[in-house]
Amino acid sequence: MTREEVEAVVDEMEIDGVEQREGNAVPEGFNANYLQVYYGKLFPHADMFKWMSYGNDGKHLGCDHSYFGRREFSFTLDNDIYLRFQSFNSVSELENSIREKCPVKIDIGPVYSVDPAKRRAYAQTGDNVFTPVERELIFDIDITDYDDVRYCCSGADVCLDCWPLMTVAIKVIDTALRDDFGFNHILWVFSGRRGVHCWVCDEKARRLTNEQRAAIADYFRVYKGNENSQKKVSLIGPALHPFLARSYTEVLRNFFETKLLSSQNLFSSEERYEKILDLIPDESVASELRGKWQDNRRSSNSKDDISVTRWEQLKHLLQSGNKKAQGLRRCVEEIVFSYTYPRLDMEVSKHMNHLLKAPFCVHPKTGRVCVPIDPSQCEEFDPTTVPTLSQLLEELNIGGMKADADNDWDRTSLGKSIRFFRTSFLQPLLKSCKEDIENSYSAKLQHSKNSISW
Ligand SMILES: [Zn+2]
Repeated sequence: MTREEVEAVVDEMEIDGVEQREGNAVPEGFNANYLQVYYGKLFPHADMFKWMSYGNDGKHLGCDHSYFGRREFSFTLDNDIYLRFQSFNSVSELENSIREKCPVKIDIGPVYSVDPAKRRAYAQTGDNVFTPVERELIFDIDITDYDDVRYCCSGADVCLDCWPLMTVAIKVIDTALRDDFGFNHILWVFSGRRGVHCWVCDEKARRLTNEQRAAIADYFRVYKGNENSQKKVSLIGPALHPFLARSYTEVLRNFFETKLLSSQNLFSSEERYEKILDLIPDESVASELRGKWQDNRRSSNSKDDISVTRWEQLKHLLQSGNKKAQGLRRCVEEIVFSYTYPRLDMEVSKHMNHLLKAPFCVHPKTGRVCVPIDPSQCEEFDPTTVPTLSQLLEELNIGGMKADADNDWDRTSLGKSIRFFRTSFLQPLLKSCKEDIENSYSAKLQHSKNSISW
């Protein structure tokens, strides 16, 4: 779509909007026309290009000008056509292709050794040179993986009672990535419907091998079982690993006790508390609790939350006195971990060539934009108020006649997200990329001087 065509679509909607000014003049939904306006006026093409260039789009002699062009993008089109191995050599190529093809989804893959669009030509030379060489370390967390610990929703649904499980995952993973691994350039993104994505963009993260990625994924793993095994967590050894201990005392325990217990009514029925009793390895303790709970149904203080009361009883019995060994005390922690610890899709993190949906895409089912989430304010993030495509177009309509055409997004509720992306993520990232490029260039110069001066 040309700029004129986009203006025409907006104008047309504007007329509709004037006629039916009541409520939201742009009907809810997701369609190709809306998306064309979105890609034409709101999608931050230039910021995406700057990000994916990692400083290699500058004039510095140390820049690798082939860098961006070796990145794989893939487009899912409206008619389910899937275009892999798209590559672009400039921001205008990227923008033109997105505006022309109007993909319902854009995925980002790795940077390859050679331009992925020309991979076949390289394959014919016989050398196996087409291989991924860089990729952000990524994490994918999806609320559907928590269906056995949430009772408010299931499947793709999410509400404000279960969303905090995602908030907790962000806190735990983000802290570990920064404090334990020393990564600084981390972007969290709402997946548009039911989960979050994490992009770790430090140079040392982008250059991790698959083996190193698998080791990091393993660091985060506490779930040893599969769907059929009752016990999803086993915290072995005399003391918790410092990362797990810190996650427990700083995030998980408090979240479990003050929020999840009541919001999900974890002990409110026999079926629900039996699932928790299954996690207690000592049958005599389990049956003592079961006896208590079967007898005094909701009789006692009906004011108190029954799940909170029963949790206190369970803890008291498991942690009391000297009769119980370390294993049973640990059981309290295991229950908390089972219900709250982040459930990562490990396969996504382990392999360089895994594709991940680009930030600022629009989710085709919800119409919501995949906006960044500030990990330091993640508790305030509300997935139910993330701007939708139709809401943004309505906002464009309202501010339609204002002149500053460069910054259409600034007149919409997407502005906040793009400003956050720039100031909190992109600017510090590019600053450190520039330093890295300058440093490695002067080291190279020094090296060649040295080798000449003998
Ligand atoms: Zn829910």
